[in-house]
Amino acid sequence: MTKRADTLDGMKFLEEVPLAPYTTLGIGGPAKWFAEAASEADVLEAVEFAGQRELSLFALGGGSNLLVADVGFAGLVLKIGLTGIERPSAGVFRVAAGEGWDDFVSLAVAENCAGVECLAGIPGTVGGTPVQNVGAYGQEVSETILGVRALDLRTREFVEIAADACGFAYRQSVFNATERGRFLVTRVDYGLRPGGSPTLQYADLKRYFQGSGGVPSLAEVAAAVRAIRRSKGMFLVAGDPDCASAGSFFKNPVVDGAALAAIAAAVPEGTAIPQYPAGDGKVKLAAAWLLEQAGFGKGYGDGRAGISTRHTLALVNRGGASAEEILELSERIVAGVEGKFGVRLDREPVWVG
Ligand SMILES: Cc1cc2nc3c(=O)[nH]c(=O)nc-3n(C[C@H](O)[C@H](O)[C@H](O)COP(=O)(O)OP(=O)(O)OC[C@H]3O[C@@H](n4cnc5c(N)ncnc54)[C@H](O)[C@@H]3O)c2cc1C
Repeated sequence: MTKRADTLDGMKFLEEVPLAPYTTLGIGGPAKWFAEAASEADVLEAVEFAGQRELSLFALGGGSNLLVADVGFAGLVLKIGLTGIERPSAGVFRVAAGEGWDDFVSLAVAENCAGVECLAGIPGTVGGTPVQNVGAYGQEVSETILGVRALDLRTREFVEIAADACGFAYRQSVFNATERGRFLVTRVDYGLRPGGSPTLQYADLKRYFQGSGGVPSLAEVAAAVRAIRRSKGMFLVAGDPDCASAGSFFKNPVVDGAALAAIAAAVPEGTAIPQYPAGDGKVKLAAAWLLEQAGFGKGYGDGRAGISTRHTLALVNRGGASAEEILELSERIVAGVEGKFGVRLDREPVWVG
């Protein structure tokens, strides 16, 4: 229960706010302090509030990539709620960090601008997308992000970070790696292709349009992605516990030739191992395949935390699960995969606590 509110220059700071409703997993204890920023001035005020009380500060977007501890967070959770979209020139969109990502994709597609159509149906906010370089179905936001505006917590000044300084890689950027916790993103600029063709590289998507003749429109591709996501439990449907997840719980591991040989030796001869070239003689493996081969298939687990019946990589809260239960399940899976294949999986969702 929220206990009380303090105000600083008109901004409201609430105490003991349950975080579970702010996450797609629906898990997590309270934030000691909670506030929502509707402007850059609010963001600065919140930083001042946290500084005065020596509180750690956590930037909350749509809560779709989080696992919040059962004890909650002992600092200030700042919900980034800035809204607004500007179009300074053709194909360029300056989008405030609190805008819903999928709403922006719909807008871009409606305006016939290519570049994000394959990223339809991903939950969360615009500000969350550069953090782990959101990607799916053949596109990553790093391909269209021109730059990011953020408050630098070291200097307390707003900075414009060009795309090539964001350190984008697979599910990675400076925001979740080398400069983790340093920046509060307030705006992301995307450069899209007006009248451009959709990206049709991903096997599932190609299959979807096979035999349909001609190039599908951006809207058709976005609709196809949402339909495929829905069939895989990767599209949020209110009230469906089978998609109460934080998306993929594990990243696809990148391994060298020796690790690949060890995996091949652990499965029957001739078994096809799904893999994609990852540069430097390395390959990216499908984490879902590793889980399945290690005995963690769809629907695994008989407790409140389990694997979705539609997606091997989605750990779900079937109702009333705790963060501890999700963690225990994920650790069992990591140990099982490592025991069978010698590959240690990395967690994708961010731990808050
Ligand atoms: C059903 C489902 C499907 C998904 N599918 C995909 C997918 O296909 N591809 C993919 O890449 N991801 C996917 N995800 C994961 C998730 O949706 C994305 O990572 C999303 O971009 C997270 O954004 P968010 O606003 O919800 O961030 P949150 O979950 O609120 O936060 C995630 C991290 O980003 C930081 N952050 C968020 N906003 C800001 C900001 N403004 N400034 C600074 N830091 C910030 C947080 O501090 C935290 O570290 C999926 C999740 C779900 C539930």
